[in-house]
Amino acid sequence: MQPESSARRTTPLMQSIADQLSSGILIVDPELTVLAWNRWMTEHAEIDSETAIGQRLETLFPDLPVATLRRRVKAALQLQSPSYLQPRKGYLFPVTLDRIIDSHFAYMQQRIRILPDENEPHNAIIVVDDVTATREAEARAAVAAKASQRYLELIDHNVMTLGVDDDGHVTRASSALLQASGWNAETLCGTPLDALGLGQLEAHQKAADDKLPECPVLRADGSTLWVRVRKAQGLEDEEGYEHYLVLQDISLQKEIQALSERDALTGAYNRMKFDQLLQAAISAEERYGQQFAVILCDIDYFKRINDNHGHLAGDSVLKQFTALLRTQTRLSDQLARWGGEEFVVLLPIVNTQDAAAAAEKLRQAIATENWPPIGKLSASFGVAFHAPNESADSLLDRADVALYRAKEEGRNRVCIAEPADSERD
Ligand code: GH3
Ligand code: MG
Ligand code: MG
Repeated sequence: MQPESSARRTTPLMQSIADQLSSGILIVDPELTVLAWNRWMTEHAEIDSETAIGQRLETLFPDLPVATLRRRVKAALQLQSPSYLQPRKGYLFPVTLDRIIDSHFAYMQQRIRILPDENEPHNAIIVVDDVTATREAEARAAVAAKASQRYLELIDHNVMTLGVDDDGHVTRASSALLQASGWNAETLCGTPLDALGLGQLEAHQKAADDKLPECPVLRADGSTLWVRVRKAQGLEDEEGYEHYLVLQDISLQKEIQALSERDALTGAYNRMKFDQLLQAAISAEERYGQQFAVILCDIDYFKRINDNHGHLAGDSVLKQFTALLRTQTRLSDQLARWGGEEFVVLLPIVNTQDAAAAAEKLRQAIATENWPPIGKLSASFGVAFHAPNESADSLLDRADVALYRAKEEGRNRVCIAEPADSERD
């Protein structure tokens, strides 16, 4: 770096300092002829200073964006202030990367500063900094950001989630939920959870993992979307705490469950479901002292209806019979088809007399109703009040015996079961 043209500008001390720097330093005239060249340039561009000095940059680097570089040099000289160049390819001088394996880049990424040479106003100093590591980090961050963005989109499109503020008002909903519910994102925000059929936030917070709340969500079109609700980890930001609910569509499960527990003809619970309800009632009595009775009920001379009017007429009587039992029992009572033309009602009640009165009310309602095409109809009843510690079989057995007695004694009547064995003295 000592030819005549540059000797005036670079003292040995300056040269020595320039050679110590971990950046590329070169001085060029406005025509981009190299006037000075430090060791970094020699090492990285693999062109020594003797070769470089006196040559035009485009001769040394045929692919150099000469026009752009010249414009920047001109700008820096005219304004007498630094100018930056962000090369389109990421580098100005092609320096292969042998240090970094598995890099995004084939060449060292460079930041180029062009400074006016204060001692020689027509010349410019070009400073080359290696910014590969920074660009590498940026590129990796961009890839990671894109991946997490894709992941978020995947969740947004496929998982039904709901953001809720501390007061239980909706703050956001995922695309999957909007699509499944038909809700409108704008009108949804600010809506209280329970107005959507999702109950109270508190209930979701308290729910055990194996007993997550199942809620009938009201769709925009008025239909029901059954969901199981899990409260996920929330997020705190400047605007406060945001809770997250994850909803799982269980509509199909509910549909299958409903089908499996109801009788297809009448829509009443079937025997399997009734067995479960009876066991639950026995447990509830043991735990909470909630006493109950069962009423067994069998339509009188039903076979004649089929014989005289056909099976379809018999079916329609069974449907009407179920509807009547429904209207004549309470919401807290459970009605099931026991089989054929036999039904059973489980009713929370405190003594045998009240249970018999309920059965008598049913008997009268049936007897006074009009039953097309047959006219009149009656049914017989067996009533059994559940005794402490009595099994389901024993209770049903007693009701059945009472029903048989009602038939024996002339039908269209209510008979009360004998006390359970445990209650006899
Ligand atoms: P009782 O007064 O002694 O109870 O006489 P009943 O004729 O009602 O009793 P029985 O047990 O002799 O006959 C019951 C009839 O109910 C026989 C059966 O064909 C009919 N049945 C059972 N299930 C259905 C059904 O789903 N649809 C129709 N149409 N008939 C049914
Ligand atoms: Mg019968
Ligand atoms: Mg019968």
